[in-house]
Amino acid sequence: MQNSDPQELLKFESLASRWWDPESEFAPLHAINPLRVGYIDERVSLDGARALDVGCGGGILTESLARKGARVIGIDAGLAPISVARLHALSSGVSIDYRHTTVESLVDEQEESFDLICCLEMLEHVPDPATTVAACAKLLRPGGSIFFSTINRNLKAFLFAIVGAEYVLSLLPRGTHDYKKFIRPAELDSWARRASLAMADITGMHYSPLSKRYTLGDGVAVNYISHYLQGTSS
Ligand code: SAH
Repeated sequence: MQNSDPQELLKFESLASRWWDPESEFAPLHAINPLRVGYIDERVSLDGARALDVGCGGGILTESLARKGARVIGIDAGLAPISVARLHALSSGVSIDYRHTTVESLVDEQEESFDLICCLEMLEHVPDPATTVAACAKLLRPGGSIFFSTINRNLKAFLFAIVGAEYVLSLLPRGTHDYKKFIRPAELDSWARRASLAMADITGMHYSPLSKRYTLGDGVAVNYISHYLQGTSS
């Protein structure tokens, strides 16, 4: 598989059966999902949109996009996550085209066709995220929207996303994230600009250990989500 790290894929393969258990290792994805769906829904029209979910995993976001009326293709380089996603969509009665592939491979088949592309919590797991960003951009129609979310790289992000989340609070299994693969917003922005994408917005995703709740808001030092537009300047 182009631009995939077998070690990274293995982490998700081995946990995939628990993807839809909201108390499992995937609890944080379940917890942030309403927030990110709300953010996307506020910024683009989902009803009837041709959407691509890149690195969709078991389909937590993918199903939400489909329920809001988007016609979604979900792709993942992991076979187990895609199998879980297919089964879950069947049992929840949503229609989604799931494919076991990478975005780089999809570019060879399809160009400039999506109104909306989401690539959430995935870029920090690939060997060359700039290539993933460029491939996403190629698949977007002019004026289309892309959402990326990932983790910033600095001392606070190390303390919160690795020490806090994996070691102190055990929100995620140890080793889920590799600090070196975290991505500064300016790095993401430079890859995006090279692919003719312009940033429309960026916002932070925050976790409060006291309330055990996630919120969106100012401050992108740890988790963040950004909205890019194709072929236009913001
Ligand atoms: N985007 C989903 C899942 C995030 S977990 C969500 O936010 O709910 C990261 C996912 O990326 C895993 O399912 C993993 O298998 C997938 N992945 C890792 N490398 C990939 C690659 N090169 N291409 C496609 N998917 C990849």
